[in-house]
Amino acid sequence: MKKVIVIGAGPAGLSCAYELSKKGVEVTVFEASNSVGGMARSFDLWGQRVDLGPHRFFSKQKEINTFFKELIKDDYTLVDRQTRIFYNGKYFHYPLKFGNVLQNLSLITIFKILWDYLIQTINPIKNPKNLEEWISNRFGKKLYTIFFKHYSEKLWGVPCTQIDADWAAQRIKTLSLTQAVISAIFKNNGKKHKTLVDQFAYPHNGSGTLYERAANSIENNKGSVRFNTPIKRVLLNPDNNKVYGVELYDGSIVEADFVVSTMPLTTLIKGFNNTPASVKTAINLLYFRNTILVYFEVEEKELFQDNWLYIHSPDVKLGRITNFRNWCPTLNKGKETTILALEYWCFKEDPMWSQNDGELITLAKSELLNIKLSKKEINIINSKVIRVPKCYPVYETGYQENLNVIIDYLKSIENLLPIGRYGSFKYNNQDHSIFMGLMAAEKITGNSSIDLWDINTDTEYQEEGKIKDVLVY
Ligand SMILES: Cc1cc2nc3c(=O)[nH]c(=O)nc-3n(C[C@H](O)[C@H](O)[C@H](O)COP(=O)(O)OP(=O)(O)OC[C@H]3O[C@@H](n4cnc5c(N)ncnc54)[C@H](O)[C@@H]3O)c2cc1C
Repeated sequence: MKKVIVIGAGPAGLSCAYELSKKGVEVTVFEASNSVGGMARSFDLWGQRVDLGPHRFFSKQKEINTFFKELIKDDYTLVDRQTRIFYNGKYFHYPLKFGNVLQNLSLITIFKILWDYLIQTINPIKNPKNLEEWISNRFGKKLYTIFFKHYSEKLWGVPCTQIDADWAAQRIKTLSLTQAVISAIFKNNGKKHKTLVDQFAYPHNGSGTLYERAANSIENNKGSVRFNTPIKRVLLNPDNNKVYGVELYDGSIVEADFVVSTMPLTTLIKGFNNTPASVKTAINLLYFRNTILVYFEVEEKELFQDNWLYIHSPDVKLGRITNFRNWCPTLNKGKETTILALEYWCFKEDPMWSQNDGELITLAKSELLNIKLSKKEINIINSKVIRVPKCYPVYETGYQENLNVIIDYLKSIENLLPIGRYGSFKYNNQDHSIFMGLMAAEKITGNSSIDLWDINTDTEYQEEGKIKDVLVY
């Protein structure tokens, strides 16, 4: 009988524990906070339901969709995605559509965009290595400057030339001039079926419902989820290079045959004694970006139509605004107000991270009014700040070499499985973390030889799949 400890009750940890508990494995999840879902959790706010910023669920992979359907059943809705870029007082569809871009800009800018796009198409950069090169290659320099440079630099906090191209290939849908022409000729945009870009699945009571139900199932299957129990460190036996359990902050030790860790990779490694010097150097070179969310309850029902807006203007720090009223009617519980979440990104050393709630609310209020996104008056009746540390592993150029040193070291410890977004230093969506969790469970039960480090390393754009082929079966 195997005994497994899972660190963290986010999507990665809970999907792993859920799968193990179904198979009768003795599993205990230790969660630092008092709730499930990690960064994908949902919570009640001012009588409504919200998430930590926008959380859409999509995947082409059968195992992930099966996990979703087993737990959510039909208690979800397919949301028609509407997301736009707010730039210079105008709205642009995102993913970008050529026709819409051309409609919104001056003739001179359009000429420059088309010229740069043409030049780049004829003479692309071979092997683009950083974000600037990758995006310029697909969109041309002018479009890159208008639509990607400022936003990406707000998000990452470093110049785009220092961000690895890895990230862009998976995340950014490229432009198609052909598609723009087809769309202009055919009414239905030339597409018969909606793709994962156009629509996404959303549980009626918020994205966190999936994880609340996973935790209930784990308990029903005789597993356990222990809240408010952060793990101080994972215990490694240097004699056989195996882990044998974890240490809690009160000094107590819990033993296990396997440890699945979704705690930050940096914290995991720093908790070991006697790590090789090369690993110590490499781990100190990996770092994260933090998020600050400022929630506002606004006395208005129809501020704008989007699920979320990207705010590109370089004159405000604000990066993204989620409008929870436009996700699913069950979220607002019949209330007449709108809840917005304004997103800011910073490093833990930046002054913004240590600003108090009052200062952050004042900043967010003034920026919301400054960008004038609505002609209607914005009357804020409630505000709240939430800080989310370490949410973006920074893919700085060269990060992969440092990560590889750590991966090689961790692979030598065969009964320790580090997975998840900050757990494996991968820019995971929920689906990647869930897949890592499910596969970790398969490895522990001996049913898979998959290399968990290979998950979320492909450079294929993930959202081309047809919605009819995935969730609705
Ligand atoms: C603003 C924002 C928007 C996003 N939008 C989307 C989206 O639209 N679609 C999508 O699919 N994904 C989205 N994501 C990403 C998604 O939230 C993550 O991919 C997912 O939550 C990662 O799951 P995880 O289990 O790997 O990590 P986490 O969700 O971070 O869970 C890790 C858990 O481990 C716990 N923990 C940490 N340290 C310890 C410790 N020492 N001891 C015990 N417990 C510990 C944490 O408290 C946490 O509960 C978004 C994320 C953010 C921040």
